[in-house]
Amino acid sequence: MDRFSWQSARSPTEAATLGNTTVAEAMLADPALSAAADCVVLKAGGIDLLDLMKEGLLRPGRVVNLRGIPGLDSIAEDAGGLRIGALATLEQVATHPTLRQRYTALADAAESSASPQIRHVATLGGNLLQRPRCWYFRSAAHRCARKGGEYCFAFTGENRYHAVFGHDDCAIVHPSTSATALVAFGAHVELTNAQGSLRTVPLSDFMVGPAVDIMRETDLRSGEVLTAVVLPSMPASTRSAFLKQAEKPSFDWSIADVAVVLDRAADGRCQHASIVLGAAAPVPWRVPHAEAALVGQTIDATVAHAAGQAAIAGAAPLRHNAYKLPILATLVRRAVLQAAA
Ligand SMILES: Cc1cc2nc3c(=O)[nH]c(=O)nc-3n(C[C@H](O)[C@H](O)[C@H](O)COP(=O)(O)OP(=O)(O)OC[C@H]3O[C@@H](n4cnc5c(N)ncnc54)[C@H](O)[C@@H]3O)c2cc1C
Ligand code: SF4
Repeated sequence: MDRFSWQSARSPTEAATLGNTTVAEAMLADPALSAAADCVVLKAGGIDLLDLMKEGLLRPGRVVNLRGIPGLDSIAEDAGGLRIGALATLEQVATHPTLRQRYTALADAAESSASPQIRHVATLGGNLLQRPRCWYFRSAAHRCARKGGEYCFAFTGENRYHAVFGHDDCAIVHPSTSATALVAFGAHVELTNAQGSLRTVPLSDFMVGPAVDIMRETDLRSGEVLTAVVLPSMPASTRSAFLKQAEKPSFDWSIADVAVVLDRAADGRCQHASIVLGAAAPVPWRVPHAEAALVGQTIDATVAHAAGQAAIAGAAPLRHNAYKLPILATLVRRAVLQAAA
């Protein structure tokens, strides 16, 4: 790892003033040029940031530590919903009593992410902003399209962990497990700039697919700090479930994951359904046909199976990843039944 200087920010506006680039922009800077050394990037838990630096993919001149900013790790009631500070750890999200009770799919998604040690350090904000796991992207020897090159190595190469939906020119899957559940709940992100102005964006819009911009995964702008994730108020009758399949369940990113959020009327019929697939596309992938298969129905094994099949309709698997489709369909079926139980 190259030498870098270190500074601790005391407030979001100070951090936004100090940070002069996003990591996505900094990774495009030629390390041979002095411009790369002028990059000042933000660090939360540092799990992904330091990985990129150790792998020689990112060479900032300065790292600004956010961990000392007071209050940015709190989880509090907000207009009937919940406001999660960006520095709340995955462990806090997994164990918070209100999240566990009212936003169960999110608590389960956080709990299923990484290992206990990592969850105690990794923050929710950093989790949403981590860069993709595509092995060509993570290899300094491959300058692929997402790093400013001309070519996606995954389409003709090894693509068993890649996308089955939405892979225009780049077949990454979004690496954040919590994002699957957050999008299913209709969460927003709150961003603060150096002037202290707030920008609030639905997480589903904040996540950017390759058709919009192949070189970044989110709409984070330089000079912005992610300060909070806001969950909307949900009806008391809302139930949710999250399920994940990974190579190593003890600590690993998903091969496939699913979040289901249901609301049923007094007669038991589903009146609202939100179903999102994770590790399936470059962004958390909502499946409206599967949701439509539930609305108006009394949920049973047949209805849940139909939702699972609808969820994979229109998928475009690559050479090595068609195996993901039956996994996704099964996870949807089981998660629907679990949420409805
Ligand atoms: C073995 C292993 C297994 C893992 N398994 C999973 C898994 O199953 N699911 C999963 O989702 N993740 C998994 N991860 C990834 C891990 O959860 C993320 O790397 C971690 O959550 C990143 O959070 P952080 O606080 O450490 O972010 P950092 O590494 O500090 O930052 C990540 C990025 O976000 C930016 N950033 C951070 N906070 C802010 C902010 N508030 N405002 C603006 N920019 C910010 C940084 O500049 C950087 O670009 C795994 C990691 C490992 C090592
Ligand atoms: S899938 Fe995306 S990140 Fe991976 S090699 Fe292709 S362009 Fe690069």
